[in-house]
Amino acid sequence: MRPDVHGLELDPQTRCVHWRSPLDIIAIKMRCCGLYYACRECHDALADHAAAVWPVAEWDEAAILCGACGHELSVRDYLGCESQCPRCGAGFNPGCHKHRHLYFAEDAA
Ligand SMILES: [Zn+2]
Ligand SMILES: [Zn+2]
Ligand SMILES: [Zn+2]
Repeated sequence: MRPDVHGLELDPQTRCVHWRSPLDIIAIKMRCCGLYYACRECHDALADHAAAVWPVAEWDEAAILCGACGHELSVRDYLGCESQCPRCGAGFNPGCHKHRHLYFAEDAA
């Protein structure tokens, strides 16, 4: 079953008011509340608490949702997927990696 995604002005593929390009189709489960949000800005606008990021030790948790097919990826899978859904092949925005620190702790290594 596809989890609920929260955000501002969501479209069916989880784009939000902040990120609306054709490639902006992933949602991220925030570690603090365990809920999927379209992006960190949506979380900070809607949630009543500070965001928490995923520590490296928990990168096997399913925390990324492909808005095209509903497949859930672990953090590790997502960071290694080369911006493409391993199930449906939809392209993800490679620019998301520039702000991965908003969601995931920096690499330990
Ligand atoms: Zn939260
Ligand atoms: Zn947003
Ligand atoms: Zn997919």
